[in-house]
Amino acid sequence: MKFDEIKDPTCNRCGALKLQAWSAMADEKSGDVTEVYCFACKDKETLADWDKDHRLHSSATMSASMNTHKYSPRPRVDQRWYEINIASNRVGEAVSAYFEPSVWFGHVGDRFVTTPVENGGRSCGFGKGRSMAKIVRASKNSWMVSGDVIDDSGTFTVRTWCTAGRCLIEIESTTARITLITAEDEDALRMGVQGIDATEYDAIDLLNRAEMAWRSGVLTLTDKT
Ligand SMILES: [Zn+2]
Repeated sequence: MKFDEIKDPTCNRCGALKLQAWSAMADEKSGDVTEVYCFACKDKETLADWDKDHRLHSSATMSASMNTHKYSPRPRVDQRWYEINIASNRVGEAVSAYFEPSVWFGHVGDRFVTTPVENGGRSCGFGKGRSMAKIVRASKNSWMVSGDVIDDSGTFTVRTWCTAGRCLIEIESTTARITLITAEDEDALRMGVQGIDATEYDAIDLLNRAEMAWRSGVLTLTDKT
């Protein structure tokens, strides 16, 4: 069975009938649906995974953000959704406070001030150091790569990919991966987390390592050929 052939499905885990909303797993090669499960069962699995290793991943942070939203229709929310949401927000705050001004706008750890910009938000301007934004904008290629960056903690890589006015920055080590998104050509502070597969600690550690490597010049980007 394929996704679009699913009609009035039953949850393969708890047996709930005629699901209005569901998730499905499919075989990578054939595309055949291997399992259909309800959102309650999906949430149960996400929280069990969280209990195991406190790892953040995009589906967990998305559910946590919706479940803890002040307009969420749920009368009671499992405390762990708040834990996931707070951990996820702290990663986002580290991006805004350090990686974005230091690396993207080239403040390289220097103090900076922000000023309002016309269409909403704030700008920190460009710093005196190397700016990833300037390098990405100057590149004729939409895709840039770092190659292996080696520091005291091991190895990681950075890739940037720009399309339709957006720029994605992916930082990946053997234990953590985080993907950031920002506007390619705007000078406002807009960077956020697009995807994550890491604990809060490992994600922030990886962001710090990338910032340090950028500041010391160990991390450079070249056009992907
Ligand atoms: Zn179920």
